[in-house]
Amino acid sequence: MRQSILFTKTRKEAPTDEVSKNAELLIRGGFIHKELAGVYSYLPLGLRVLKKIENIIREEMNKVGGQEVLMSSFQPKENWEKTGRWEAMGDLYKVSDASGREVALGPTHEEIVVPILKNYISSHKDFPIYIYQIQNKFRMELRAKSGMLRGREFMMKDMYSFHISQEDFEKFYNQMKDVYKTIFKRVGIGHLTYMTFASGGTFSKYSHEFQTITPFGEDTIYVDEASSIAVNKEVLSDEVLSQLNLVKEKLVEEKAIEVGNIFDLKTKYSEPFDLSYTDPKGEKHIVLMGCYGIGLGRLIGTVVEVLSDDKGIIWPESIAPYALHLLALGDDEEISIEANKVYESLQKANIEVLFDDRKGVSAGEKFAESDLLGIPHRAVISSRSLSEGGIELKKRTENKGKIVSLNELLKILVP
Ligand code: ATP
Ligand code: MG
Repeated sequence: MRQSILFTKTRKEAPTDEVSKNAELLIRGGFIHKELAGVYSYLPLGLRVLKKIENIIREEMNKVGGQEVLMSSFQPKENWEKTGRWEAMGDLYKVSDASGREVALGPTHEEIVVPILKNYISSHKDFPIYIYQIQNKFRMELRAKSGMLRGREFMMKDMYSFHISQEDFEKFYNQMKDVYKTIFKRVGIGHLTYMTFASGGTFSKYSHEFQTITPFGEDTIYVDEASSIAVNKEVLSDEVLSQLNLVKEKLVEEKAIEVGNIFDLKTKYSEPFDLSYTDPKGEKHIVLMGCYGIGLGRLIGTVVEVLSDDKGIIWPESIAPYALHLLALGDDEEISIEANKVYESLQKANIEVLFDDRKGVSAGEKFAESDLLGIPHRAVISSRSLSEGGIELKKRTENKGKIVSLNELLKILVP
């Protein structure tokens, strides 16, 4: 992608109406555009990051046998009345049309996925089933001040699992713990993310949350560094601590962001819709369910919160919008010819490259913008690099670059 034709531009000044670091940096870099509090559009660079995360999650969901769907955002009011959540869910957006008919704007999809499945299953032979989607959710969040961390419209991966025995459910639930760890590792925040024990309300003994440590986090967790076990503030009771073999005095208090969670739903949603099957003896039973969520926008915001410095964002290679930022410095014809040659070779080698080919922009400005955008590698072509025999290559995390030839550059970057 040539930066000269990229319609977004970076901004030097922080937006005045944002208090969170993630929104500030993402808006300044032109990754997202704010529409209203908690509502953002993805622009070309931001969408590339979102798609990378989406693909990592999709790969991991498919590996465990997930079947992808895309469910509707408009959801029948009757379904929400059946589960009692039309009244009970305080952050539900209710929309009505000209005829006065009301629908819910989906904050989650149990009320849709269960009635769908009811049309297709009846026998114990149909199980287990894992259904997931990656889709927008809508929630009337009161405090939408944390940028991408708490949206009113936000992308979520939600998976729903369906089982005929508690044992089968638990097997899958435990497998999902590892899948989630893999996802957060692949996205680049594995080293800061803990699986925490959270109280699961009346439906299960525990649910599990995946919490990434950062001073900006809204949640408080307690980490046992020796065992890497963590618990949420709400479950810090003596009973829970002894069950988990934890000593209160050894726990370290940390602020954290919940990037994902997994839940044992039991029959909470299958019961109201009578989602059932017959066993080999012909007896009818209600289906058991689990659900598994990850916020994609929240994940982007979290990466920016935890992996940035005073100059800007530092994207992990796995989710960076481009692998390489190629900068042509100076407006001489020779530099432009050389940089274009390098750009074309990189493209032929299928390396994702953003090419700052703009004329009349100072070296200082190009460097500052490159740091803000946070692409993992930066290659500079200037009269100096040419006189030293090549291209100056540097990682976003390094202070000093080294001179490499085009062949060496290709070797380093080919995935
Ligand atoms: P929170 O306690 O932060 O409000 P939640 O318990 O409401 O989260 P779930 O309904 O379980 O969250 O949603 C699953 C995942 O979706 C969360 O783990 C989080 O990553 C993401 N998520 C939830 N609410 C938001 C939001 N308002 N903006 C962005 N992501 C969100
Ligand atoms: Mg919530």
